[in-house]
Amino acid sequence: MTTATLSSLGFVPTMGALHAGHLSLVEAARRRNRHVAVSIFVNPTQFGPHEDFSRYPRPIEKDLQLCEAAGVDLVFLPSVEDMYPAGAPPMRIDLPAQMTPLEGAYRPGHFSGVCQIVAKLFNIVQPAAAYFGEKDFQQLAVIRAMVRAMDMPIEVVGCPTLRDNDGLAMSSRNQYLTPTQRQRGLSISHALFEAQRAVANGEANAQLIRDRMIAILNDATLAPDVPTHLDYAAIVDPDSLVEIACIKREARALVAMKVGTTRLIDNVALLPPTTTQH
Ligand code: AMP
Repeated sequence: MTTATLSSLGFVPTMGALHAGHLSLVEAARRRNRHVAVSIFVNPTQFGPHEDFSRYPRPIEKDLQLCEAAGVDLVFLPSVEDMYPAGAPPMRIDLPAQMTPLEGAYRPGHFSGVCQIVAKLFNIVQPAAAYFGEKDFQQLAVIRAMVRAMDMPIEVVGCPTLRDNDGLAMSSRNQYLTPTQRQRGLSISHALFEAQRAVANGEANAQLIRDRMIAILNDATLAPDVPTHLDYAAIVDPDSLVEIACIKREARALVAMKVGTTRLIDNVALLPPTTTQH
């Protein structure tokens, strides 16, 4: 393959059950690259032993139709055996502790599995650019760090989170939710939007904002019968992922909450009045 062809390939790694959020990454790639490749692979090494690997949705035919309609040039659809051949001991990437607070603390080994599969996919697909959603904000940070640390010649492009009209961040896992659970899950985006509003109006005290978020997240009025468990509601520096006390420049609010048996994550940028989004 020549450099010219290489430089024209944009890549969107996914686990399938595609929705408009995934397709927005394809669109972003189509705008910037001549060819677009999508991978669909539910990667076992990024799931914990009690997570939803076996029940994760796999509507392959529908996904292929969506890719075709979106103008994807190539879909890479490997099997688990293709990616992890029996007898070949898999190598994992060891992540520094500062990359693995938040999701890393609740899903031990998750980001190591993500880096393992993404590194393998990068080597197979050899894209010039790869597109990841801000929906998985920490994943995007981890991939950027991996690419930098391993000198991978790939541009990592972060893309904004797509939401349904009610505000719920699109996710393949939303299809697990019953209508009442979905109602309850809306408290996540409500809490994040409230944090965003407060910061835009000049509130800089992260603890105060966090308390407000937690009050909204714990408010079960909309769906009192749905069990929830808040894993974290955090306000962090977007680069270091370290929790901050005072919001002086752009920060990030992140939430992970179990609604029924479905674990949902979401996040937003917090922009103090004097900052402009970049
Ligand atoms: P997944 O199939 O969940 O592994 O996601 C594949 C890619 O799509 C990841 O880079 C995600 O961050 C991204 N993605 C998932 N949901 C959304 C969304 N609602 N908006 C934008 N990107 C998303």
